Amino acid sequence: MEWFHETLHDGIRQSLTIDALIHREQTKHQDIVIFENRLFGRVLALDGVIQMTEGDEYVYHEMLAHPAILARKVADRPSSPEEVERELNVLIIGGGDGGCLREVLKHPDARATMVEIDLGVVKLSRQYLPNHSAGAFDDPRANLVIADGAKFVAETVDLFDIIIVDSTDPIGPGAVLFSEKFYTGCKRCLRKGGILITQNGVPALQGEEVTSSAAAFRKLFADPAFFVAPVPTYNGGFMAFGWATDDSTLRQRSSASVQQQINAIGLQTRYFNAEIFAGAFALPTFIRDLTDC
Ligand code: SAM
Repeated sequence: MEWFHETLHDGIRQSLTIDALIHREQTKHQDIVIFENRLFGRVLALDGVIQMTEGDEYVYHEMLAHPAILARKVADRPSSPEEVERELNVLIIGGGDGGCLREVLKHPDARATMVEIDLGVVKLSRQYLPNHSAGAFDDPRANLVIADGAKFVAETVDLFDIIIVDSTDPIGPGAVLFSEKFYTGCKRCLRKGGILITQNGVPALQGEEVTSSAAAFRKLFADPAFFVAPVPTYNGGFMAFGWATDDSTLRQRSSASVQQQINAIGLQTRYFNAEIFAGAFALPTFIRDLTDC
């Protein structure tokens, strides 16, 4: 039996059986491996790090997309019937597998620009992990840009309601997406009251990531916060997501009002729900201490 060993963290490793090797390719940015595992289905790994699996990607992608979009839509509600409900402009940095894009486009009034550095991830995900994007790349509301996300936010003239950083860990091409300079660029192209959402690692094993992001968020935004969700193949317990905005009311939502929004669009999810919205911001003490949030 062949095994895939992930050695992201010093001192421990996570191993999954490779029940079938689907594809392996070295692009100019990273080493891409896609393999079949008997428990989690197809797995995508980049530079030896598990990015996501068919078996549990829904947790991660739903939590990247829905809390921020539902919060922003309430804040952005037309103040009068005459005002047409504005489309929500969402920027996804990274996310080459298309799972985050799929979740964002479940919102009828959302459109998404996705800035992914490695076209190879998109091409191979479309070919070998079609359930991740589930047609999202072909949605007319999706705009795929192959570029470095840090450069994009520093230079774009567009403004976004929500920016979602669905990046790799702060190694290789993903390292720049954890810098204060990058977050400053995000702030620059966020609309007033917009929300920045980040993939912020597993605090139990990568505590320095949330501490560093929290310090940068505090300099740039009035309401820095984090929320959590357990993603089984992200070794080490809770996965942390960064939430940064100047409008602190956005996350003060009753589950009843979130449920109304969910019902209104018939949002189908397997992890996210109205109670999870509020509950996810309840942080374990050690994460509160790491982030001072
Ligand atoms: N779920 C994964 C996680 O939490 O680790 C992330 C999934 S997604 C596959 C990560 C994507 O970020 C990859 O497709 C990678 O190519 C992309 N990426 C890394 N650095 C980037 C950069 N500087 N600009 C844009 N995309 C980048």
